[in-house]
Amino acid sequence: MSGNITFTMIKPDAVKAGHIGNILAKINGAGFQIIAMKYTKLSAEKAGEFYAVHKERPFYGELVEFMSSGPIVAAVLKKENAVADFRELIGATNPAEAKEGTIRALYATSIGENAVHGADSDENARIEASFHFAGTEMFE
Ligand code: GDP
Repeated sequence: MSGNITFTMIKPDAVKAGHIGNILAKINGAGFQIIAMKYTKLSAEKAGEFYAVHKERPFYGELVEFMSSGPIVAAVLKKENAVADFRELIGATNPAEAKEGTIRALYATSIGENAVHGADSDENARIEASFHFAGTEMFE
């Protein structure tokens, strides 16, 4: 796996609202190659593990409940400068602050239910990709 990957999830709110297709089209349209993808559902335990860095934050319980409330799409994306470019494509955590045209501006409803996840560093992208996918499930 090269350094130019990021990890994303289409969160339960966006899946429920029927936005999978539109979000994947935005991702492909922005030049990202999907090198791994699955439609899956996190248990509360797995969601808690994934977001363990936020354990001390006041919204941790809500976040874990939300992320395990329905199916998600998990994917690994490849592109030069993947992590930063993807954060730009998804927009600010709070959709009210997200730039026009970003995925969160288009599809998120609140700071908690914000449609998509994007890894925040190359290291976390690799850790998060390995959390969801075996090496044999990624194809460049
Ligand atoms: P991100 O990197 O933009 O996803 O933002 P953070 O790493 O700060 O937060 C992780 C996730 O926790 C966000 O994407 C939201 O789903 C959730 N979150 C962040 N802040 C809040 C909040 O104030 N309330 C709730 N309910 N969820 C939040």
